[in-house]
Amino acid sequence: MNSFAGPVAGAAPITADKAPMIDPFGRAVTYLRVSVTDRCDFRCTYCMAENMTFLPKKDLLTLEELNRLCSAFISKGVRKIRLTGGEPLVRKNIMFLVRELGQHVKAGALDELTLTTNGSQLAKYADELYDSGVRRINVSLDTLNPEKFKAITRWGDFHKVMEGIDAAQKAGLKIKLNAVALKDFNEFEIADMLRFAHGRGMDMTVIETMPMGEIDEDRTDQYLPLSKLRADLEEHFTLTEIPYKTGGPARYVEVEETGGRLGFITPMTHNFCESCNRVRLTCTGTLYMCLGQNDAADLRTALRASENDDYLSAAIDEAITRKPKGHDFIIDRTHKRPAVARHMSVTGG
Ligand code: SAM
Ligand code: SF4
Repeated sequence: MNSFAGPVAGAAPITADKAPMIDPFGRAVTYLRVSVTDRCDFRCTYCMAENMTFLPKKDLLTLEELNRLCSAFISKGVRKIRLTGGEPLVRKNIMFLVRELGQHVKAGALDELTLTTNGSQLAKYADELYDSGVRRINVSLDTLNPEKFKAITRWGDFHKVMEGIDAAQKAGLKIKLNAVALKDFNEFEIADMLRFAHGRGMDMTVIETMPMGEIDEDRTDQYLPLSKLRADLEEHFTLTEIPYKTGGPARYVEVEETGGRLGFITPMTHNFCESCNRVRLTCTGTLYMCLGQNDAADLRTALRASENDDYLSAAIDEAITRKPKGHDFIIDRTHKRPAVARHMSVTGG
């Protein structure tokens, strides 16, 4: 995984030789997802309301502080970091953090630095991401139809995202396309998206909508169980289960007709918590030990309490002892409220 040669200037002297953090259910916590901003240049209907109130900028950790927090996790055995949001690439000067964290990849202390993006800023940043040590990214795309794209993202420009995908592939970044499966929106388009993705050498993952945060619509109208989608796809394609894993919750099949891979992320119909290896950090320094639960740890106070990392390290250890067994998402007509009040853009998808 670590394909860099030569000495690395400026890398923090981290030796990740400790055993990984282990939660109360025996799961090793090796994956940190960091929401670097709750803001976004899109307003996807399943993710946000059109009029969102975002955090005041003063509440955000600085990029230097986020870097220090990430480095603390790396020294405690985290091997993979994903930057997400909101839209990670709209945070001002985000490349500072990417470059700093990339040093840990180059030094061998981190196996992978990656990000999930809506693609709107990729044309601008693709080369720099690659130079910083990023090799794979996830791009979220729910349709190939520019008008439908406008409808689902409210503010997005399809052609800009396509330019971003072109630029990223040209820069050498491997892309996985992520599509949220939405009833009456893209359920009959996934087959075409699959042909598009696999035709361009990209894996694809489909994901069920999760009940996170108030949006302007009724989630029961959007929810499409992937068991149904899969049955529909099997009318067009031969899907064979494969043991392929990317460190995430997706279960993969190989699509015989295209030769590519398709992942299913099924938080609603198949609980994947038993193999959960991750925790999520927000841009205010709050650590969520589960995407679908409210319990959290305040790492900002520990971070700011001292210049050395002893408090921080103790606060992280304490948080890991509270990692719950799993989440319990339900979407049906009797559960009108979201399972958790925060939006996906707070903790990152
Ligand atoms: N803005 C970036 C993007 O869209 O890729 C990163 C953040 S976004 C919150 C991460 C992922 O979460 C996206 O793939 C998005 O489609 C997905 N997502 C957002 N809200 C969701 C929800 N309620 N249920 C399921 N997935 C959701
Ligand atoms: Fe923004 Fe991503 Fe949420 Fe869409 S899914 S509104 S791009 S954070």
